[in-house]
Amino acid sequence: MPTISLEAAKSGPSCQPECTTYDYLIVGAGFAGSVIAERLAEGLGRRVLLIDRRPHIAGNAYDHFDAAGVLVHRYGPHIFHTNAQRIVDYLSRFTEWRPYEHRVLAQVDDKLVPIPINLTTLNTLYGLSMSPEEAEVFLAERAEPVATIRTSEDVVINQIGRELYEKFFRGYTRKQWGLDPSALDKSVTSRIPTRTSEDDRYFGDTFQIMPRDGYTQMFERMLDHPNIDVLLGTDFKAVRDEVKYEHLIYCGPIDEYFDFQLGRLPYRSLRFEHQTLEQEHYQPVAVVNYPHPDVPYTRITEYKHLTGQTHPCTSITYEFPCDDGDPYYPVPRAENAELYKRYRALAEQTPNVTFLGRLGTYKYYNMDQVVGQALALYRDIQAANAEVAAETEIDAS
Ligand code: FAD
Ligand code: UDP
Repeated sequence: MPTISLEAAKSGPSCQPECTTYDYLIVGAGFAGSVIAERLAEGLGRRVLLIDRRPHIAGNAYDHFDAAGVLVHRYGPHIFHTNAQRIVDYLSRFTEWRPYEHRVLAQVDDKLVPIPINLTTLNTLYGLSMSPEEAEVFLAERAEPVATIRTSEDVVINQIGRELYEKFFRGYTRKQWGLDPSALDKSVTSRIPTRTSEDDRYFGDTFQIMPRDGYTQMFERMLDHPNIDVLLGTDFKAVRDEVKYEHLIYCGPIDEYFDFQLGRLPYRSLRFEHQTLEQEHYQPVAVVNYPHPDVPYTRITEYKHLTGQTHPCTSITYEFPCDDGDPYYPVPRAENAELYKRYRALAEQTPNVTFLGRLGTYKYYNMDQVVGQALALYRDIQAANAEVAAETEIDAS
């Protein structure tokens, strides 16, 4: 992974000193940009310049050893989960894996109980000893059927009723998004199932694994290719007229690319407070959620549970949601989808630019979905190339 300076990028690909033009400029070294960079370089032999305005690769999945030597995620806990074998196969070219099933507890009514709500949650909270069948009845009696489920409030009320909704979802969601669940698309709280079994895993996916040596190492291996030049700490604006390239793949916020000409797409941000404690462990699981509105943060993460690291100290992160700061979450609601559609139409009229990733396509995607999106783009580019090659062959014969 040759890391180069802006001066060097101006004179063209380091793998081919006689050539001054990159085939691709890729903005954003997160999953979207790094996967497409690797594929274009390795699969099609393209010369790629990958840039990021942050001083590191891996985007929001960036992890590093903190001052005490504990492996932490700078932008909050990232747990890999997917049902797609082909995505695991692809990433396995760059990492070994550590099996890890994520479990989360929520602090509710002075108790720590599993979230997603399961049999243990209900029995602990209400001092009962119900069977799964009895729990089904318990929830059915409380659920308030909603004829047409449109919002994130509807989803939960319809499944478990108002009391549990208020205990687990309303406060957390208001903090996380700065909006009431009734103002958010149903897709947001639909991410969280309700169970009447004792299954206390956060995800139900077939593959629940963590890169054995961390995400950043996985990205380093992915980008370790002579055709990929990496330029860090550099904004797109600083290179757009300085570097020669044929195509642009843009994984930053789509509205920013167009200078916000149709208005701003809302993104929710987070402020992270990282701490290292001189004790071996802080909490029983990797993540504890705090849905209560009086607690200013949403959750606390203790990384050693995720990474399996042994260390006499432990590092934790508090998450405080906010509006200003790096854009982390596209906000799923109808009016934002409408505005995105208008930006999408502008994008379609812009030649030689492709938008990709969570910010480029304004989608609340998990990591595996972003990898899938980048691999799909690669297949399209590959197919278009094969078509051009076939046409050239016909013309020549
Ligand atoms: P990003 O990782 O955001 O990368 C985009 C990059 O583009 C950034 O590094 C940015 O600096 C750069 N950039 C933007 N604009 C410019 C510009 N103008 N010039 C130069 N560079 C620019 N997913 C999961 O699957 N499991 C999880 O447990 C999970 N937890 C998460 C927890 C948090 C707190 C957050 C915020 C997200 C979580 N995600 C999780 C989602 C995951 O982070 C994303 O799916 C994934 O990182 C998106 O990759 P990306 O490449 O699209 O975007
Ligand atoms: N949620 C909640 N209480 C919780 C956990 C989740 O209200 O204890 C809601 C909240 O709106 C959150 C959404 O469910 O944004 C999706 O949660 P998930 O953990 O999937 O969000 P992520 O942190 O992965 O973006």
